[in-house]
Amino acid sequence: MNVYDSARMAEILAPLGYQPVDMPDDADLIILNTCHIREKAAEKVYSDLGRLKPLKTERGALIAVAGCVAQAEGEEVLRRAPFVDMVFGPQTYHRLPEMVARLGRSAGAVLDTEFPLEPKFDYLPAGDGVSPVSAFLTVQEGCDKFCTFCVVPYTRGAEYSRDVAAIEREARSLVSRGAVELTLLGQNVNAYHGRDESGAVLGLGGLLRRLARIEGLARLRYTTSHPRDLDDDLISAHADEPKVMPFLHLPVQSGSDTMLEAMNRGHKADDYRRLVDRLRRARPDLALSSDFIVGFPGERDADFIATLDLVRDVGFVSAYSFKFSARPGTPAASLDEQVPEAVKDERLYALQALLREQQDAFNRKALGQTLPVLFEKPGRHPGQIIGRTPYLHAVHVDASASWIGSVREVRMAGLRTNSLSGELISDPERISA
Ligand code: SAH
Ligand code: SF4
Repeated sequence: MNVYDSARMAEILAPLGYQPVDMPDDADLIILNTCHIREKAAEKVYSDLGRLKPLKTERGALIAVAGCVAQAEGEEVLRRAPFVDMVFGPQTYHRLPEMVARLGRSAGAVLDTEFPLEPKFDYLPAGDGVSPVSAFLTVQEGCDKFCTFCVVPYTRGAEYSRDVAAIEREARSLVSRGAVELTLLGQNVNAYHGRDESGAVLGLGGLLRRLARIEGLARLRYTTSHPRDLDDDLISAHADEPKVMPFLHLPVQSGSDTMLEAMNRGHKADDYRRLVDRLRRARPDLALSSDFIVGFPGERDADFIATLDLVRDVGFVSAYSFKFSARPGTPAASLDEQVPEAVKDERLYALQALLREQQDAFNRKALGQTLPVLFEKPGRHPGQIIGRTPYLHAVHVDASASWIGSVREVRMAGLRTNSLSGELISDPERISA
């Protein structure tokens, strides 16, 4: 979502004459778009700011802190890094031109961490640059679920769904500028409930079906989903809408009912298993990924073993796993029975080893298969291009850059650490749309 927001910031600054540059050394304005989800990400902001400071003192570059660290820490950012010029949260970046102007007028720093009544989306310009082949589109923001470990409801605010028409307009614009795949974004994207032109409320399944009608758009994905919001209509969209890709990121966090309850996730481990069964009945080849937290306060060995059991039962093709990080202001931060760091390390290591095994097995299974690959960009080596299968395997192929933006049948020929190498199947009969 920060990638999406950063692109919007670049667009809104363009009329003021700002253009993105590759290195901070070349920049007149440096915006750190920050993440507050875990302590490590938040602390990195201050070390980055320390490194950027000379650019301010030596040649007057403007420095801004945007995103969720700005939202959560506000004044504190200015206290710890007084040379910062602007601090603004994820809901106010549409006011950037105004903030830059204010900076020119006054000597002080600009701070804007409001949750304005007007949704920022109404004020963002329609983009006009070339779109990546695989583009992001935010359809939902914020969260009302208040998992006890999580800062999102405080930093991104209450759940909000954009209107269907605005989303479709943006989707069509992205496709007309080169996007072939769209990933719909939201902190809880499947809680989406936006209004269509007739005033009716559409869920995520309905939205996917609407967008699937766009010609030139080949693939639709969405992230991140919450198990509690996965309704029948969304499950059936996986069965009957071929543009909806057979891959789902569905965070479970833990396989222990005690932990799930303490986290306020609102479901049990078996509910998750049953949900996966329903999804796989709808789409037998569905590949699943997930998020896990180890070392949540009070987590015993038995709880952790329950997580390993769930991983074995479900089978994930990729995953993000984290040590619990106590976040200021969240209920879990002040719980007794915080788990010692060494125990968290051990559990993370064991969990990641199991997840790694599953990921490797999944990649190995693809060897020899022929799968449609959407080519997205040039590879690191000359003459190489990179794309993805429907299941999100990354595939390198020696082929002309002119294939970028198209879906081609590729035979999976070799295995690398995190990707596959493939060969184009040249038979034109087998080229899919
Ligand atoms: N809305 C999504 C997750 C958004 S946050 C969901 O409910 O599943 C992305 C991931 O960061 C979470 O799934 C969780 O695994 C991790 N995370 C969030 N807060 C954390 C914390 N305090 N410590 C460790 N990991 C955390
Ligand atoms: Fe955070 Fe996701 Fe829970 Fe919302 S549902 S509070 S975003 S972990």
